[in-house]
Amino acid sequence: MDKDKELSSQTDGAEWLQPPPSVLEIARTLIRAGHESWFVGGAVRDALLGHPNLDWDLATAATPQQVQRLFRRTVPVGIDFGTVGVLDDAGRMHEVTTFRRDVQTDGRHAVVEFGASLDEDLARRDFTINAIAYGPDSRALHDPFHGRADLAHRLVRAVGVAEDRMREDRLRALRAIRFAARFRFTIESDTWSAILSSAPHLGRLSRERVQQEIEKTMTQVELPGDAFRLWRDSGAFAVLAPPLAASSDVALATLDRLPRARSAAQSDRTSNRLTALVLELPPASARDTLRELRFSNDRIRWTGDLVERWHALAPPIRDSLLAGATPSDATVRRWVAGIGRTRVSAFLRVAEARFAAEFVEGGREAPSAAIRSLYRRMSRAAFRDPVEIGDLAIGGGDLMKAGIKAGPQLGAVLRALLEWVLDEPARNTHDRLLARARELAREQSHD
Ligand code: ATP
Ligand code: MG
Repeated sequence: MDKDKELSSQTDGAEWLQPPPSVLEIARTLIRAGHESWFVGGAVRDALLGHPNLDWDLATAATPQQVQRLFRRTVPVGIDFGTVGVLDDAGRMHEVTTFRRDVQTDGRHAVVEFGASLDEDLARRDFTINAIAYGPDSRALHDPFHGRADLAHRLVRAVGVAEDRMREDRLRALRAIRFAARFRFTIESDTWSAILSSAPHLGRLSRERVQQEIEKTMTQVELPGDAFRLWRDSGAFAVLAPPLAASSDVALATLDRLPRARSAAQSDRTSNRLTALVLELPPASARDTLRELRFSNDRIRWTGDLVERWHALAPPIRDSLLAGATPSDATVRRWVAGIGRTRVSAFLRVAEARFAAEFVEGGREAPSAAIRSLYRRMSRAAFRDPVEIGDLAIGGGDLMKAGIKAGPQLGAVLRALLEWVLDEPARNTHDRLLARARELAREQSHD
């Protein structure tokens, strides 16, 4: 290859190739000490695409120990793999990784060796678009695998022989899908074939790495439905989360209709997208699937509870929307009571997205106005009205003083009181509830 010619060539995205001064300073310190150093990976790729990316990773000929000696504040991020975190003056960490080659791979881990050249280091990277180096001083690109051409053609292509590269590390199959969905690129055909032949082996990956891929897909990708459609169609779900292999297009389209929340934090969006992904599964299967993927107990409980409410309440809500009817206030309050006050907002966001996806799939216009009106009424009811036993103006203690025995009967009276209040919130006063409780107790003792 004609190195000089290649090094001097610039690209359209070059004006974006501007690492922040603090990272440039780290690069220059390495170079002044005689260590060849290049920017590599995601930030270079994103700059060429015109997207900002704050993680300017450096690859260097310096060994991890040399890097640690050169900088005052470092963090041993992944010393065995050659990665040292260097803190800049503002305390921000930047990853500096020693040039390396893989000497042994088993589909899960690699054993790496230092003392490699830049070209060897680029050759072990996953995709051509991730294997472009940018020189801090020369301001030139080094692109031996023609990543820029693939950026221009919007292609995700493995570096080298796709089948071999996927065999070395099965996670690359999932990474390829994520990058394709994130940039709306096509997966080059040999690379796609290698993903298909990798799918049956994905069970060898640690569930934690798989879970991270799911999380990254939820947070980074504007249309994650595209990514999970490829998980489904490649056979990845069949191996990693079998119940999701039957995900409908509507289920996946629902994720794409959960954009950044209007006010809530992005983590809510990720959480709602996860709920949308498992929404069609029976609640027990949704919980098992998330547990298999090592999601936290909090996440499993939260999502499982939402899925359970969905299966109970989506049918009547859907029927009401389909009928174009306006549900009564009491009905709206009962729905809120069934969902639970703390879950109403998440439930409604997911429901709004799911119903819109269902209607569009069925060739109808999404009932946006009706959904929004329902959203407002349910949110208001959740804020304002008594919808839980704890909201009643009377407690178990009051009832026991009035002679109702502790135990199942007491619970039944409280539930009946809540039903009575759901019909008419004005009934929620101590005196009216006490009178009603006495009546209920009398009725129950006659049964
Ligand atoms: P993101 O914006 O998602 O961080 P990225 O390209 O920076 O994208 P990272 O996971 O941060 O992705 O990895 C940094 C670089 O390391 C990649 O660009 C790629 O060159 C290389 N890399 C990461 N994971 C692998 C892998 N499994 N196999 C080969 N190379 C990899
Ligand atoms: Mg990165």
